[in-house]
Amino acid sequence: MTKNFPISFEFFPPKTPEGVEKLVAVRQALYQLKPDFFSVTYGAGGTTQAGTLQTVQSILADGFNAAPHFTCIGATRDSVRAQLAQFKEMGIQRMVALRGDLPSGYGAHGEFHYASDLIEFIRAETGDSFHIEVASYPEMHPQAKSPEADLQALATKVGAGADSSITQYFYNANAYFYFVEQCRKNGINIPIVAGIMPITSSTQLMRFSDACGAEIPRWIRLRLTAFGDDTASIKAFGLDVVSSLCEQLIQGGAPGIHFYTMNQSVATTAICKNLGLAD
Ligand code: FAD
Repeated sequence: MTKNFPISFEFFPPKTPEGVEKLVAVRQALYQLKPDFFSVTYGAGGTTQAGTLQTVQSILADGFNAAPHFTCIGATRDSVRAQLAQFKEMGIQRMVALRGDLPSGYGAHGEFHYASDLIEFIRAETGDSFHIEVASYPEMHPQAKSPEADLQALATKVGAGADSSITQYFYNANAYFYFVEQCRKNGINIPIVAGIMPITSSTQLMRFSDACGAEIPRWIRLRLTAFGDDTASIKAFGLDVVSSLCEQLIQGGAPGIHFYTMNQSVATTAICKNLGLAD
């Protein structure tokens, strides 16, 4: 396996001073793996936006490429325009453009309904200034009417100017390969980078997966449940399962892997070592 295989790492903006401090150490550990870029999530409706930009700024200042996520739900054309100007000022060249989900109790949808509306606006306002990543869903977005409709939504994002895509995480390599095949059959030819969630905790993973529609296969779910509070066994099992998934993806031609690190370095580093992507 080649050391040059493209990898990228996702963080969320820390909410406490301790979280910020911890992320400094996590970043230093992950810099050793020489990722193509880091991305930092963005809370729809304004909850974590300042934290996103602070985190992006710290990574850029360390000499690494950093991409903010940018959600449009609840936004206006003016607010997006101002945000784009700030991105440019900060030297940001890449972003992950998303619709986002409205936090509960947040009524207004704003002036953008879908991520494709945001991408179209970004291209109209800023031309080719940014490399635009978009989300895709091998196991279908939970609100999509059908897999075909969801594929069409991705095609619309590509038509609006998306350069590449990062998938929702999944644990079934066939779902990814079939999805990529369907993309190609439907004229979607951008790179579809596999989004990978390391397994380090059972309850957290179950909670996330139920919310975002990512399937945890029955055999994984049963084993995680059987481990109970035995976190060492959960981590060892997770490392085996996710390393083997990544190996299949790389061998099957995935153009890159994006790790949902959850602001932790240990599991991601161990997977990369197993794959021969780290010293
Ligand atoms: P869209 O592409 O707009 O799709 C949303 C839904 O609408 C889909 O069901 C789609 O099929 C449907 N749709 C799209 N266009 C049309 C149309 N023209 N007509 C009818 N239906 C249509 N959320 C955050 O809040 N912050 C983040 O930082 C964040 N980062 C993420 C990163 C990745 C890689 C991924 C995979 C997800 C991320 N999310 C984040 C979650 C994401 O915001 C949600 O999944 C959200 O529900 C959909 O966003 P989207 O950009 O995929 O939306």
